[in-house]
Amino acid sequence: MNLPIKLQGLILKRMFSVCYLFVDLNSYFAAVEQQLHPELRSRPVAVIPTPSDYTSCIAASYEAKAYGIKTGTLVKEAKRLCPNIAFRLANHRHYVEYHEKIMAAIEACHPIQQILSIDECVLKLGGRDQKLENAIKLAHEIRGSILNLGNQLKCSIGISTNRFLAKVASDMQKPNGLSYILKSDIPEKLYRLKLEDFPGIGSRMLHRLNLQGIQTTKELYQQDLHSLRQIWGGIVGERFYHNLRGVEVETPYTPRAKSVGQSHVLAPEFRSPEGAYKIAVRLLQKAAFRLRETRAWTRHLHLALRFENGGRWKSELAIHETQDSLSLIQNLNQLWNKKPNGNPKKVSLVLTHLIYEDEKNASFFDRKKREELSHAMDKINRKFGKNILYFAASHDAIAAAKNRIAFSKIPDFDFDEN
Ligand SMILES: [Mg+2]
Repeated sequence: MNLPIKLQGLILKRMFSVCYLFVDLNSYFAAVEQQLHPELRSRPVAVIPTPSDYTSCIAASYEAKAYGIKTGTLVKEAKRLCPNIAFRLANHRHYVEYHEKIMAAIEACHPIQQILSIDECVLKLGGRDQKLENAIKLAHEIRGSILNLGNQLKCSIGISTNRFLAKVASDMQKPNGLSYILKSDIPEKLYRLKLEDFPGIGSRMLHRLNLQGIQTTKELYQQDLHSLRQIWGGIVGERFYHNLRGVEVETPYTPRAKSVGQSHVLAPEFRSPEGAYKIAVRLLQKAAFRLRETRAWTRHLHLALRFENGGRWKSELAIHETQDSLSLIQNLNQLWNKKPNGNPKKVSLVLTHLIYEDEKNASFFDRKKREELSHAMDKINRKFGKNILYFAASHDAIAAAKNRIAFSKIPDFDFDEN
């Protein structure tokens, strides 16, 4: 039963049965490695981006986690904690291929509402699936169909009255967990959790809550709507208040992005003015692609560099409205020519002063040809594979990008690395 309530800009739906099922693959990258390489099964495994003692693990198998190794642990430290650990270089392509198979397997059981990252998705349950026993049956079916793809591919599933608590539930038991939080479980079941177990409470927010005298979930739950608005600084706090109570909060509209940014810490071989330029062009092409995807045009380009010697430099340029890669590269060149000497370590580009299709005026027509060129390139890249066509200046950067991993989002098939 849904009772929509309008309150301070948010549309709330009261759900009296379970409505969301959240699927989270456990130690996903490490599990894919164990799936592909039987000799790694039941062994401590860590996935690393480059073969170096001074890089961090980007995933750890549960056997490695037992030694205290997790995402972010330095390779050197991981070796100390577990001399027997096996390291695997990240293989982006395999993770994406399994992601596609897993999502298709879930979709065959029940439509997916949203894919949230390479190893997470959420399903909105309707009709009889909202009954807990049916939702649990569905969870088992989903787990079985993922395991059919590979017996190392374990997942944790959470079921609850809103997306937020379904995610919280999926984290309650790992690996291979199935947990639910019913309306009648709120708030007692939540009181067992630490503040940082909730999405949206990172170390900074935890500190802010502590400063307000809030140390436990119970203390957080007992805050009124007004206090949470104050602590979070607005509607996010209000949303958190309702989320904790199992109420699904729908944002009535998706706010439009005000900027598109890309930044990259350069691999050692690109830490020269020439190398950094190649990366900058590549980042700019990605940003321009995003503009075109969201039907936005930019009127301002910002470039920032951090140098190996610790120096920083930034500059910006007001430009004609554009979403076209070639025009943007010419604008970038103007800024690039002004940069100081030195070897850049990090390149950041931001496009601001965005305007969207429904806001733009007729003056665009004189740039139509270039835009058509960019769109044609996007079309070809979509159809024939990533990076079939790109501007020559970014060639080396694209070739070097193969090992980068998407953590929080699905890799960009249209314009990203292989
Ligand atoms: Mg996961």
